[in-house]
Amino acid sequence: MKYWRKPLDMEQNRDSLGRVVIIEDRCKGCQFCITFCPRGVLRLSEKFNKKGYHYPEVIDASKCVNCTFCQVICPDFAIYVVDDNEDQQPPMTASEKEI
Ligand code: SF4
Ligand code: SF4
Repeated sequence: MKYWRKPLDMEQNRDSLGRVVIIEDRCKGCQFCITFCPRGVLRLSEKFNKKGYHYPEVIDASKCVNCTFCQVICPDFAIYVVDDNEDQQPPMTASEKEI
């Protein structure tokens, strides 16, 4: 998308990033997380877990925007997302620290 102007604080704000963690042996292969991920981060692995189901795998980790939808929709708590931004935030300014 092309914006008509560049936001003045664009350098201070970064895209939200998430790191997906899949607990393979909890998965029952329903594919909800794959179907409803808005960024197409996941696909079904060709491998089987201990229960005999195919489980999701990450195709492109850099696309994850940490929306946590895969985590919320999983009926078996087999997938969750860790905020990967914490060490990437710019240092707080003096005025922010005072608040
Ligand atoms: S957190 Fe959102 S973008 Fe990332 S894998 Fe889950 S559903 Fe997709
Ligand atoms: S939503 Fe959960 S149980 Fe279903 S495929 Fe994804 S990780 Fe597996």
